[in-house]
Amino acid sequence: MRQIGLRIDVDTFRGTHVGVPNLCALLAEYSILASFFFSVGPDNMGRNLWRLLKPVFLWKMLRTKAASLYGWDILLRGTFGPGPIIGKKLGAVMKNAASAGHDIGFHAWDHYSWQAHVDNMSAEDIREATEKGVNLLEEVAGCRVTCSAVPGWRCNDTVLAVQDNFDFIYNSDCRGDRIFYPIVDGKVLSQPQIPVTLPTYDEVVGKSDITDENYNAYIISLLKPDELNVFTIHAEVEGILHYEMFRDFVKLAKNNGYEFIPLGDLLSDDVEIGSAKMLQKEINGRDGAVGVMEGFNFES
Ligand SMILES: [Zn+2]
Repeated sequence: MRQIGLRIDVDTFRGTHVGVPNLCALLAEYSILASFFFSVGPDNMGRNLWRLLKPVFLWKMLRTKAASLYGWDILLRGTFGPGPIIGKKLGAVMKNAASAGHDIGFHAWDHYSWQAHVDNMSAEDIREATEKGVNLLEEVAGCRVTCSAVPGWRCNDTVLAVQDNFDFIYNSDCRGDRIFYPIVDGKVLSQPQIPVTLPTYDEVVGKSDITDENYNAYIISLLKPDELNVFTIHAEVEGILHYEMFRDFVKLAKNNGYEFIPLGDLLSDDVEIGSAKMLQKEINGRDGAVGVMEGFNFES
């Protein structure tokens, strides 16, 4: 079976406002359903500007032209006071995605703050951010939030334990190659993790001869028939700047016999789901450690 679980991360106000409607139109054109993960609280992504002081982030900015990907308005937003509450201003966009039949998932209350501070957040901080975000998302989208995916794959055992008390059918917080139940403090949790198997645009373009011209073919080359394939795109990137490139990817994947499905549909197969710990590891192209399924190796 040739399937690609398609996950769409929405990090910013602009990504929600422009990228999500663009992607919804494209997906409708090709009769594709996907999983959207929304950032619903304040847009403070502009605080990333301060990370320019860090050489890794500066390199990434230059390599991926983050300013042209996100737009300077996004990079500056949040640096001069609190950003807008995305879910309050753009709830209609989230509702439209829900009405179209996509999985509606929770990504972040404050994407920037989570990426920068999650390792110092208490269980109560994590619970509060998740509850605020899920409640607002359910209110504006008019549907149940069935899944979650932490920003930047910045996950740890405290996050997993807190999230297990919410009403999620699945979560997608790490890199790996099979669906598994996470083990925390020796206990197997009840919500399966659906790991992302493929790298994102910003992780690989500009490195090892991967360019805008050969990125699509590179991702296709990494797909594995009859195995788990989960691909993440960003509303800010594939929904705006590289919209036509993503359209080409959809066509190319279809020509190779692959169909796109929401992550939740990957659970409907009678695959036996094992358990594993989630570790924190540094991976190529990403700043800081990310959640990685124990035993998973990045060969590519
Ligand atoms: Zn994100």
